Amino acid sequence: MNEKEIFNRANNKCELCENEENLSVYEVYKSDDNDGYALLCETCKNQIESQNWDENHFNCLNNAMWSEVPAVKILSYKIWQALGRSDMTDMMYLSDEEMAVANKKEEIVKDANGNILKAGDSVSVIKDLDVKGAGKTIKRGTVVKNIRMCDVEGHVSCRVEGIGQVYLKTEFLKKI
Ligand SMILES: [Zn+2]
Repeated sequence: MNEKEIFNRANNKCELCENEENLSVYEVYKSDDNDGYALLCETCKNQIESQNWDENHFNCLNNAMWSEVPAVKILSYKIWQALGRSDMTDMMYLSDEEMAVANKKEEIVKDANGNILKAGDSVSVIKDLDVKGAGKTIKRGTVVKNIRMCDVEGHVSCRVEGIGQVYLKTEFLKKI
């Protein structure tokens, strides 16, 4: 599923609160066929990323939780969970597979100094790193923006200029 298809599916509205402004695609879960995305407005996305909740805003989940889009359903479930609303999660029907995704604990990833890294952070590389198979080196001091969480333990995924998409070991990174 590409970005255009996601906007079409969502009718160009936030799939949680139906806001029509500042929309972007948010990855709810990893999936091989790229269907783990939801279209979100900035208000929803900021709260999800910061885990700083304005509970009133998420009254919108009363509708979103019944979405037939797994990503939207799972995201609604996770937010209800974060808000401590087991009365709401109890009402929802998720398949075993969806439940496994919803309850998957996110690994806490830390940099060389023990600071927690989040998606979207910028980091600098603290030693020269050879990129396997590419014959290239990421030089110490290289700044990498907009890191992403990934399924490889102890790594983040990111794009490095002149090299491309790589997984970097977080012990060699420093949050900036
Ligand atoms: Zn929204």
